[in-house]
Amino acid sequence: MRTLIRNISQLVAVPPGPVRGPAFSNPPVIDRAALVIEGEKIAWLGREADSPGGQFEHVLDAEGGTVVPGLIDCHTHAVFAGSREDEFVRKIQGASYLEILQAGGGIRSTMRSVRAASVDEIVEESLPRLTRMLGSGTTTVEIKSGYGLSPEDEVKLLLAIREIGRRLPMEIVPTYLAAHTTPPEYEGRPGDYLAAMTDDALLARIIGEGLAEFADVFTERGAFSVDESRRYLEACRRRGLVPKVHAEQLSSSGSTRMGVALGAASVDHLEFITDEDIAALAGSGTIPVLLPGCSFFLGTPPAPARKLIAAGLPVALATDCNPGSSMIESLPLIMSIACTMLKMTPAECLVACTANAAAALRREDRLGAIAVGHQADLLILYVPNVNAWPYRVGVKSVWKVIRKGRVT
Ligand SMILES: [Zn+2]
Repeated sequence: MRTLIRNISQLVAVPPGPVRGPAFSNPPVIDRAALVIEGEKIAWLGREADSPGGQFEHVLDAEGGTVVPGLIDCHTHAVFAGSREDEFVRKIQGASYLEILQAGGGIRSTMRSVRAASVDEIVEESLPRLTRMLGSGTTTVEIKSGYGLSPEDEVKLLLAIREIGRRLPMEIVPTYLAAHTTPPEYEGRPGDYLAAMTDDALLARIIGEGLAEFADVFTERGAFSVDESRRYLEACRRRGLVPKVHAEQLSSSGSTRMGVALGAASVDHLEFITDEDIAALAGSGTIPVLLPGCSFFLGTPPAPARKLIAAGLPVALATDCNPGSSMIESLPLIMSIACTMLKMTPAECLVACTANAAAALRREDRLGAIAVGHQADLLILYVPNVNAWPYRVGVKSVWKVIRKGRVT
């Protein structure tokens, strides 16, 4: 099947990731453009005046809109049960993240809801959320476990994540985040808990059934130390899971350097990143993923994005969609927040949510770019240029979502 998209006011031809330096800040833009899709892939792009001839089964009129790659949300906890709006209010009234965690709230509250729910119930609760993410332009989404915190309940969450991937026209990337927090039955014994969660038979099942690709850990005071995190990630890596790290979110711990040393695909958060960490990242293939939704949601200082960009790092952005610290489903809203709080331009935000997010998920050869041979995951926006997108904060600017060459 051959499809022509014509009458594009602005085509942002984001190159394959990781994108850094001048290309990060100024991705190629083609005005009055057209694009040809053959099957599931991009076959041609350029000025409409130069469009190739021949027969097209479909012609899509972009009506003067902007065309960009489908968005990639490379860090979420979007599959869970229950809701924590009560905690949202307590935080507004001054309770800190750690205070809520230590009082049995936070992750443990969602853990209780997940443990009490079946796979089907978790799917039914989460499906509308993922459907809305697709509608706001997210064509690929990484989803972490981490609310079951026992072998059977973590597998249950991973099964729910897989089922959602079967029901929606999105690419779902599953991550095993058993090391999210220590559950009550292992109180004070995080090492024993992690040993149980890296049991050979359990990891063999997760890998064997394709239930996870990545392993992630929350390295933080009140969660796991750098040494505990390293042992967990090494055990998961030996079985074939690629490491990721929740690093330097609430304090500086050296978790970024630990992740880089392990060859992590990404280190995520980085609000408290140091110059030493930035230097370590600069010589690595690890992608720094920033999650400004947390800073927005919690009213805390954001990561030093401009410093990372100036160091030539291929910065990615994600929602961190989760019920405690960032109940945000919309990557376009994250782009608006990154513009105002991280001082990133709309074009930089777009690259960070596409090519570099694909690199954080090790999919840059196939996803996240508008290049010949890349998968035709595309968005047609109502707005005439990319700057107008995050500028219109909270407005739905996504008109059509195209995945694998088909309008969803
Ligand atoms: Zn997270």
